[in-house]
Amino acid sequence: MKQIHNFIDGKYVAGTRRFDKHSPLTGEVIAHVHEAGREQVDAAVAAARAALSGPWSRMPVAERVERLYAVADGINRRFDEFLAAECADTGKPRSIASHIDIPRGAANFKIFADVVKNVPSEFFELATPDGLGAINYGYRTPVGVVGVICPWNLPLLLMTWKVGPALACGNTVVVKPSEETPQTAALLGEVMNEAGIPAGVYNVVHGFGPDSAGEFVTTHPGVDAITFTGETRTGEVIMKAAAKGARPVSLEMGGKNAAIVFADCDFDAAIEGTLRSAFVNSGQVCLGTERVYVERPIFDRFVSELARQIEGWKIGAPDEPDVKLGPLISREHQEKVLGYYKLAEAEGATVVTGGGVPDLGPRYTGGAWVRPTIWTGLPETARVIKEEIFGPCCHIAPFDDEDEVLAKANDNAYGLACAIWTRDLSRAHRVAQRMQVGISWVNSWFLRDLRTPFGGAKQSGIGREGGVHSLEFYTELKNVCIKL
Ligand code: NAD
Repeated sequence: MKQIHNFIDGKYVAGTRRFDKHSPLTGEVIAHVHEAGREQVDAAVAAARAALSGPWSRMPVAERVERLYAVADGINRRFDEFLAAECADTGKPRSIASHIDIPRGAANFKIFADVVKNVPSEFFELATPDGLGAINYGYRTPVGVVGVICPWNLPLLLMTWKVGPALACGNTVVVKPSEETPQTAALLGEVMNEAGIPAGVYNVVHGFGPDSAGEFVTTHPGVDAITFTGETRTGEVIMKAAAKGARPVSLEMGGKNAAIVFADCDFDAAIEGTLRSAFVNSGQVCLGTERVYVERPIFDRFVSELARQIEGWKIGAPDEPDVKLGPLISREHQEKVLGYYKLAEAEGATVVTGGGVPDLGPRYTGGAWVRPTIWTGLPETARVIKEEIFGPCCHIAPFDDEDEVLAKANDNAYGLACAIWTRDLSRAHRVAQRMQVGISWVNSWFLRDLRTPFGGAKQSGIGREGGVHSLEFYTELKNVCIKL
């Protein structure tokens, strides 16, 4: 059986216990993962602290940048291994992992290396009574050892989205990948060694949240800052842990994102975009759409066309040709999503398409499959409209005017993203500005220059990362004033 080890101080290390990693496709055990106990987490934090006072954080930026380029090149050189590991852990189609997860995993190191290389610093001249003056400038230093707690939906991409900027800024990290997706974080250890990243700069500890590696990392006094991506309820627990020692947190959390489709939109583009935003990665994308509001004149046509197209999406294993939908991450998550499928009907939804589990034959009966599902007819108060499901499903409701749809779309505890479909430029700006979210897309979805700020409003997040905004979290900005 494949063994997945912790990576501490540049070496692969056994855990105190082992747990099974199941295939989302079949339910079979595909690996034994070495769970880090307190002892391994202590060792990882100690290695990260030691590396922080070693050459890494004092390395000239130009040299650090070269090593991060080498990490990106290393991922690309071993692209097929990363691809196989990500598909095995998640069950997602190779077409997705090869276009999104792995290339972005590599790109995150290059992008943040470039940000750090090119970042300007503040500089002011001061007048002083003696006429000699003073200079005052800002100077950034690493924030220290960063605890990185990751989810399972885009494992390498979201982990490197944090590790890339953390390392570029001269920090060291202790990463806790999701228990569901340990493989690519572990494999990255080999790439770090090959790229000349000093031992202790990148550490990985495997395990769960409470009373396991997640809790041990976030409560560890040797961790200076915590960056987290995952569910809002988990983020709340991590915030409390970070309060001890008044440590900074960056939280990227859940969403219940709306798409607003106006009757004047490019209909085909709105269908294509909504199809992707609701169903790609089997709906397990924090930025995905679970609430669709469509202006009444095109409502019926929109619902039937979206249903027609999703019914054509092939469900299957990652390497089957033309597959567009994989399973969910686990049987546990399948149970949660199917619970919402039942709840939708209990709350009075009309099932336009989908519901339940597809029949893919005996090989896949133990897997975490669900059918992509579209509902209509729910009241805005329904739990299915309010709560994040994180599955391949959406509810579509009609609307009659802009104020009405804005009130409905904003009436949610989350505030991560929205997609607006219209040809009216003024309306697009107006609606985007009034949406209580971190990112609004107009006539697009999932398109973003990585130099721009990313993060959620309301219960979807605290802080912004991306481009220079990441520096606010991963560095300490110091003020130096020199009397001339
Ligand atoms: P999760 O909160 O269950 O787990 C995330 C990580 O936290 C895992 O590594 C888990 O082991 C760890 N964890 C759990 N309890 C912990 C504790 N008490 N202390 C420390 N660590 C703990 O989330 P998930 O199910 O892995 O991911 C899905 C969620 O992530 C969805 O809500 C989705 O919206 C969200 N998400 C948000 C973004 C974003 O950018 N805002 C991106 C991707 C996913």
